[in-house]
Amino acid sequence: MLRLAIQKSGRLSEDSLNLIRECGISFLSASYKLKTEATNFPLEILYLRDDDIPGYVQDGVADLGIVGQNVLVESGFPALEVEGLGFSKCRLSLAVPRAAAYDSVQDLQGVNIATSYPRILGDYLAERGVKANLHTISGSVEIAPSIGLAEAICDIVSSGSTLLGNGLREVETVFRSEAVLIANQNLSAEKKELLEQLQFRMQAVRRARR
Ligand code: ATP
Ligand code: ZN
Repeated sequence: MLRLAIQKSGRLSEDSLNLIRECGISFLSASYKLKTEATNFPLEILYLRDDDIPGYVQDGVADLGIVGQNVLVESGFPALEVEGLGFSKCRLSLAVPRAAAYDSVQDLQGVNIATSYPRILGDYLAERGVKANLHTISGSVEIAPSIGLAEAICDIVSSGSTLLGNGLREVETVFRSEAVLIANQNLSAEKKELLEQLQFRMQAVRRARR
């Protein structure tokens, strides 16, 4: 039996469940539960916080997972990625206060930047020869400049209205993300076979949606 970890509640949850259902896999979903077993496919679904999913798949606690590529890359286990799923598209961007002067990423030299993605941002800045002071915070990143914690932020942007509401403007796209299917790298032959069946169904669902 395959164990698939998905986000318990959040922006990935509904689309993850819909994808599994559209693959023809039936299960009883009870939102208070930690796991459910499918009735017509050898699959168990674990409901977890998205941040925990890459680590559980890396360790083999779960065989598969559905998670944002942003969270996957930040976890440090990018090799777990199997394929993009085409939903939960978003970007990780740098933003500065609306009135701040900004010409290029070089202007961030020595600047305090608040983010929940120190690894992705650190790599991005290092590739451009910029040394900044990264402050890792786990939520409400966009308020950091207004409370004096940082002069810039790097956070997930979808519409930009949250940035605008906090007096910020987007200046660079650091990373583009979508939901991805991830898998443990030491699956047994039986589990690999099941993964292939699941991928075959997922690809058919995506073709049918187009
Ligand atoms: P958890 O409680 O599981 O830790 P969370 O608050 O960290 O949840 P969500 O806000 O539910 O996470 O976002 C989950 C993922 O959905 C993000 O990591 C990102 O890949 C994607 N995402 C975030 N914001 C958007 C958005 N506005 N539009 C589309 N996808 C998004
Ligand atoms: Zn999270």
